[in-house]
Amino acid sequence: VTGLDLPTERSCSFCAYLDGTRSYTILDRTEHVAILVTREQRGVGHVLVIPAQHVPSILQVDQALGGALMHGIVRAATAVESLDGVAGISVWQNNGIAAEQTIGHVHFHVAGVRQGQETTRGPVPELSVDETDAIAAELRPGLPPV
Ligand SMILES: [Zn+2]
Repeated sequence: VTGLDLPTERSCSFCAYLDGTRSYTILDRTEHVAILVTREQRGVGHVLVIPAQHVPSILQVDQALGGALMHGIVRAATAVESLDGVAGISVWQNNGIAAEQTIGHVHFHVAGVRQGQETTRGPVPELSVDETDAIAAELRPGLPPV
């Protein structure tokens, strides 16, 4: 039980992506962690690292899952670093509506930054799944094995 006011949806969109009922780009998936290519790109090769099972916020992440998630974050960051011109990598994570969490399934953002640029806040265009599939194709060669 959490004191945070979390986003609630009738059904979790991340879980729908993972169970295949909704189309989305899944860059990689292990037993415990999945890496999604977000349709709201706020940096270069912006991905989301999430538990493969539904977990609402960081407050429900135990040590084992935390280790698996961090391993996923490092693998994602390595893939992002392999993209052309990436000079920095931002990692961020929001909990509760007050902190701008929009989907109630814990997720870590990993995004590259080119020299002189920064990650984008506020509204960004929503890419098609074909476009995020193309980003995944660029990231995949740089993604280390588990
Ligand atoms: Zn979920």
